[in-house]
Amino acid sequence: MKTPLLSLDQAVEIVIETALALRDCKPAALRTVSIWEASGLVLAEDVRADRPLPPFDKSMMDGYAFRFDDIAGLTRDEKKVFDVVGEVAAGGSFSRPLAAGEAVAIMTGAPLPEGADTVQIVEVCERDEDTVIVRGGLNRGENVTQLGGQAIAGEVVVERGRIIESLTAGVLATVGKAQVDVYRRPRVTVIATGDELVNVEDTPEASQIRDSNRRTLMALAESEWCRVVDGGIIRDEREALRMAIREGLEGDVLVLSGGVSAGAYDYVRECLEAEGVGILFHQVAIKPGKPVLFGRTATTLVFGLPGNPVSSFVTATVLLTPALRVLGRRPDHRSWELRVPLTDGVIPPTGKRTTFHPGVIIRAAGPMGIGVRSRTWDGSADHIRYARSNVLIRREADSGAASPGDVVSIVLPRSLVQW
Ligand code: AMP
Ligand code: MG
Repeated sequence: MKTPLLSLDQAVEIVIETALALRDCKPAALRTVSIWEASGLVLAEDVRADRPLPPFDKSMMDGYAFRFDDIAGLTRDEKKVFDVVGEVAAGGSFSRPLAAGEAVAIMTGAPLPEGADTVQIVEVCERDEDTVIVRGGLNRGENVTQLGGQAIAGEVVVERGRIIESLTAGVLATVGKAQVDVYRRPRVTVIATGDELVNVEDTPEASQIRDSNRRTLMALAESEWCRVVDGGIIRDEREALRMAIREGLEGDVLVLSGGVSAGAYDYVRECLEAEGVGILFHQVAIKPGKPVLFGRTATTLVFGLPGNPVSSFVTATVLLTPALRVLGRRPDHRSWELRVPLTDGVIPPTGKRTTFHPGVIIRAAGPMGIGVRSRTWDGSADHIRYARSNVLIRREADSGAASPGDVVSIVLPRSLVQW
């Protein structure tokens, strides 16, 4: 009896466990970068507040600042007249402590005068030359953020492992972190194998095709924040392959396309083994992409992806991507799968393997506000039509057909966790 194929979920677990083990057996490689160049990178240190935040009692509104005790007990309908003794703008300060019955005009972001603790917004105050009428019904400290109210000095404000993006980058700026330690991006080498392949710049002969997988896979690795090394096109020859593999094994991840099926010139597996790569699986119950291979050395993960462009892309999306995210120490490495209604197109029944169809995520009525359109495609070589999709529709083995209105699983190509 034939042994059943490894399921996709089992394969994903093997990849993630292997990637975690590899990552954690070497010390984390760090790099110090300017925060102006750190967008999208992963923070490798806990960043602490260098002073209390805010650094002074700060008005959150434009209005009048005074001592709460002067209006304690007043209701919303009751009023109190204050002497206006000055003004404080953002960046300014008031020269002396505020006495009872005194108020200052204050702007958003300005420090409260000593003695003042509460701000009434300008819209509800009635100003006359030297006086202002303030309404009651306020709480002590209203419209004021206390010194240290957001963070005390020395408190961790951005944790190691967070992605530096928009708000987190701004917090680094707030605490004066001009240089930060980040994790180095994994180094990924991508090699295309096949005697039929020519470079994009060249004109194919009658029986040749241009290599598209290398471009696809390099773009995918770049979008997962890797440093990508172009390993070029390698002929289906053992010596040439072994040399290319040896070089690729100097990085963190080696990705090969083609040459992992059962054809007479599919030498990738034997060359990998000859170069000391331990094979952890070869063939997975996935369509397209069944011949996919995964292995490792002491330092490097190795993916042998099938040569058909859609097979190569799908296996890279579901198996390679989590590994790249683990090695890059990104906070989220598993694919996001959402259950959404199919809005149009019919998906045929699935055979014995988990099957991925091209889908287009769209805005739609309904509680989630999204739906997916299925696209037709003509098998694993048809990357032209597959490229018109932006998500993968995942169907489990032995699923029946799906029609509009049915809820289906979609796999997002990107993590939803961006900072
Ligand atoms: P293989 O996995 O090497 O047996 O290749 C399977 C199919 O994918 C063949 O039709 C190849 O010509 C095609 N193919 C292999 N590598 C590439 C590539 N880098 N770009 C585009 N097509 C490829
Ligand atoms: Mg080939």
